[in-house]
Amino acid sequence: MSVTDEIFEIFARRGDEAYFGEPVSQTEHALQAAYQAEQEGAAQTLIVAALLHDIGHLIHGMGEDIADRGVDARHEAAGEAWLARHFPPAVTEPVKLHVAAKRYLCHTDPEYFSQLSPASVQSLALQGGPFSEREARAFESHRHYREALRLRRWDDAAKIPGLEVPKLEHYRSALNAVARQT
Ligand code: FE
Repeated sequence: MSVTDEIFEIFARRGDEAYFGEPVSQTEHALQAAYQAEQEGAAQTLIVAALLHDIGHLIHGMGEDIADRGVDARHEAAGEAWLARHFPPAVTEPVKLHVAAKRYLCHTDPEYFSQLSPASVQSLALQGGPFSEREARAFESHRHYREALRLRRWDDAAKIPGLEVPKLEHYRSALNAVARQT
């Protein structure tokens, strides 16, 4: 099975699950994030990163209420580990950093925190809260941190119930182009 087919199967199996405390499914969330990336003219690798940024939620077995139970599933690390088998750092690094990007933006942008959804505020505490000044400077030393910040904004906005966006099939060629099909 190609990695693209594997990804389609993961979304078919788990994608209808709710996106943690938000009014969209996992698949709707992924498709809305990817479409914003495409609309902003992002590189193909970053569009794929936006599409797959929460794959860590879909490949682990924990239910959608994990944050309510006080557990941080570290989905960004699980996602990165899974993706690294097939995708280059331009995909895996923004995925790995997309939670750190939230902590960074909470430190640097006062407006940002006030726009977070209640579920996102709840998970922020479990994820370690806003970065300190030192942590924020360290975050900026990552090669792909700017891409991670862009991805984060799309992630936060990808929670609109009923929004019409292209389906998963729309990204098949991008997935085939970016993944190592080995
Ligand atoms: Fe997300």
